[in-house]
Amino acid sequence: MKDLSISARFIKGVGPSRFKLLNRLGIETVEDLLYCLPRRYEDRTRIKQVSAVKPGNFETVRAKVLTFGDRTTRKGMNLFQMAVGDSTGVIHAVWFNQPYMKDRFKIGQELILYGKVEKYLYLQINNPEYEILTGTKEDSISMGRIVPVYPLTESLNQRWFRNIMKTVVDEYVGNIQEILPYNIRKRNNLMVLKEAVRNIHFPVSDIVLKRARERLVFDEFLLLQTGIALKRARIKIDLNGYPHGLEGDLIDKFKQNLPFEFTKSQAKVIREIEEDMKRPRPMNRLLQGDVGSGKTIVALHALLLTVQNGYQGALMVPTEILADQHYKNIKSMLDGLGLRIVQLSGDLKPQERARRRHMIEIGQANLVIGTHALIQEGVSFKNLGLAVIDEQHKFGVIQRSLLKSKSTNPDILVMTATPIPRTLALTLYGDMDVSIIDELPPGRGSVKTLYFESANHGRAYSIAYEQVKIGRQAYVVYPIIEESERSDLRAAVKMSKEISKMFPDLKIGLLHGKMKSDEKEKIMSDFRNKAIDILASTIVIEVGVDVPNASTMIVEHADRFGLSQLHQLRGRIGRGRFLSYCILMADPKTNDARDRIKAMLNTQDGFRIAEEDLEIRGPGEFFGTRQSGLPELKIGNIVRDKGILEKAREEASELIKKDRFLRSPENRFLRAELKKKFSARDLELTAVG
Ligand code: ADP
Ligand code: MG
Repeated sequence: MKDLSISARFIKGVGPSRFKLLNRLGIETVEDLLYCLPRRYEDRTRIKQVSAVKPGNFETVRAKVLTFGDRTTRKGMNLFQMAVGDSTGVIHAVWFNQPYMKDRFKIGQELILYGKVEKYLYLQINNPEYEILTGTKEDSISMGRIVPVYPLTESLNQRWFRNIMKTVVDEYVGNIQEILPYNIRKRNNLMVLKEAVRNIHFPVSDIVLKRARERLVFDEFLLLQTGIALKRARIKIDLNGYPHGLEGDLIDKFKQNLPFEFTKSQAKVIREIEEDMKRPRPMNRLLQGDVGSGKTIVALHALLLTVQNGYQGALMVPTEILADQHYKNIKSMLDGLGLRIVQLSGDLKPQERARRRHMIEIGQANLVIGTHALIQEGVSFKNLGLAVIDEQHKFGVIQRSLLKSKSTNPDILVMTATPIPRTLALTLYGDMDVSIIDELPPGRGSVKTLYFESANHGRAYSIAYEQVKIGRQAYVVYPIIEESERSDLRAAVKMSKEISKMFPDLKIGLLHGKMKSDEKEKIMSDFRNKAIDILASTIVIEVGVDVPNASTMIVEHADRFGLSQLHQLRGRIGRGRFLSYCILMADPKTNDARDRIKAMLNTQDGFRIAEEDLEIRGPGEFFGTRQSGLPELKIGNIVRDKGILEKAREEASELIKKDRFLRSPENRFLRAELKKKFSARDLELTAVG
């Protein structure tokens, strides 16, 4: 049997310099080559004649080079233009600012061109992909069939790569080891792995291509889901955490002091958390609740439970502003309960920082609230029983696991206002239990969302002005801090001055991320105490900030913010009992930007916003691989391939149920593949051994 792990250097036609170029694409071995999948396909069984192409469509044509030349446009751009034709007509190919193109072609050469056809004076394709045919046997790989197009860089050409790939597929595909147990393959009607790999590169037909893709997507999802299921099983079965008793003075007193009743949703989630914390296994729970639904108080309840049992609790948040807010609120809510609460964030003097760290280390600090400062090396806890991570989508997996590592299997509660549709939540957070707060506390005023073009900015600001005049406050948010030379963005700094000029009778404050911690603190407390009427800010107030008297949110250049960000910003208002206004100022230029604004006008439901966001950005960007801690998906798409995802999940959980450590012979190849895919630390696969 041939070894797939041999170097790609030994493939005929690869040579040392091209091997280096392959390395840059992450390709070292024959196996890497086999799993370098096409980006798209061209059906060259049905190449169009030039007379048959339609403007507006992406088309492939085969034609001869007739003439070419370049010139400089009025705007100083180099424009290389080439006329190609077949027996039915002529079409132009145009490249901008690529003068070297003229050295690549010869008159009379035969080409394949692919791109979007435009209609000006002539038919034209701008920046087409092209391939020069040579009239040799090699053409047969690139002609008359469904042809793969690979994700390559400029310096590697498709035709060469396709030829290499054909050699590799013909020679090595037979040696690919099937990884799926027969039953799984049969139940799901899946192609054999070798056939799938062969056909993903050189499909014999559309239908077979579809089945090949299905098979590879299934594998990818199955591995992912099995990894997650293993991790979950390990937490639920193997690990010893901190069993918490539920009865005690502290919680009773805290509840007596509360100025409001928990909502039904909050009460339900608190019970779910209690059930988890009671058990000897560590809690690993995700709390989803829309902006303003009252997650902080639920977290605080859990933190007090751990303190009541003699452990320490930690609350980690993404910004200093939020750490400071939580610290102050929690401190005042727990007044008189005799707890020591320590804040760890921002630029503390070395001595003060050492003092606080010491309190944490010897267990004097009952509750610790802070930013990333919590997970720094010098910070150690005496006995951390529960770690809460607020706005978890702002953290990466590494940061979450660092906090967890400050103790031995502490309970973990992560909170987010970026809700995720259920199937996806099960995939991404399949190792966690999920709680949901699905109602807002009573007595909230409603929020009106308005959209103005920037030309109407006077109207937007007069709403803010009127609101201030009846006793409310307003935020104005800008995309950046300092106006950069090239950009026309109105920077927060400059705008805060302009607003001051516009409304000399109002008090205007300025807040941005580059300010010192104590400056930020001062501005926020002035805003809270109504010493500031309008706060001009950058995105630093995106998450968590809670000032119920603020009733207007103006977002300048709203088209530059992501949908989830806009939703978070809107979540800063509507926290009091008054009617509030979220005003989006924008002149959107792209369809995506228009879609985001439309979505904001259409709904205030965080779940629907998240679904829209996922739709607009696609899963890759929405979750960010780094953020989610999942291995990158090479072929599957958790939104589009949802059906396959669900099947794979069922199989994964069956698999683990029957053979927890995948030790049975029929699962051994799957197990080997899992170990290759995930690092032991990422998915705690150590148990697989
Ligand atoms: P988020 O879920 O966005 O973190 P917060 O925890 O900041 O929301 O809560 C928003 C506001 O709602 C806070 O001012 C908080 O005091 C208040 N709140 C929370 N729970 C209740 C409740 N059950 N009844 C009334 N107000 C509540
Ligand atoms: Mg919050």
